[in-house]
Amino acid sequence: MRFTRLRLNGFKSFVDPTDLVIHDGLTGVVGPNGCGKSNLLEALRWVMGENRPTAMRGSGMEDVIFAGAATRPARNFAEVSLLLENSDRRAPAGFNDQDQIEIVRRITRDAGSAYKVNGKDVRARDVQMLFADASTGAHSPALVRQGQISELINAKPKNRRRVLEEAAGISGLYQRRHEAELRLNATEQNLARVEDVVEQLA
Ligand code: ATP
Repeated sequence: MRFTRLRLNGFKSFVDPTDLVIHDGLTGVVGPNGCGKSNLLEALRWVMGENRPTAMRGSGMEDVIFAGAATRPARNFAEVSLLLENSDRRAPAGFNDQDQIEIVRRITRDAGSAYKVNGKDVRARDVQMLFADASTGAHSPALVRQGQISELINAKPKNRRRVLEEAAGISGLYQRRHEAELRLNATEQNLARVEDVVEQLA
């Protein structure tokens, strides 16, 4: 599974539709300060399901939408699409039936985010799991944002362990375990309620 194209539309400074073709081997992005290099990395993380506005250097998720400039009005939506090459069929189960996988995330003002994989509506969690199972994703240690190294040095051991779990590709299991625990708690509460009702009837 390989990233082959990142398409941005109305995302931060990329107001016009912009395609970034990612070829085999090393890709470098160079440019003067403030030209949008970090915005590209943020677009990559965002389309993979990042849901913390602070990780996008914003105070709310809508801050990723082009906010307007002296000569251009603000946009109402932002969209990022990531194309994955999957001819080796190494994508996680559930996403592995096509040679190419296109993930699209779109945010509209006052309407939140919506995701599609190969044209079908999916949940944020589905996209996050796709990447977590592939040992990459919005929280992957392969993506290092500005200030992240010092954050890591000062992080609590539990948070540092998360980084190792991401690198080991087990964060998908971790997330599933967390969800299973939530379901278990809910079931225990339901059982307790059923016992109360049975007692009242007895
Ligand atoms: P540096 O080399 O200094 O780190 P950079 O090339 O990484 O810079 P970015 O930080 O990616 O640049 O881009 C910053 C630019 O993006 C700024 O000009 C900022 O005004 C613009 N920008 C960020 N968010 C938005 C937004 N929502 N709407 C319009 N422009 C935005």
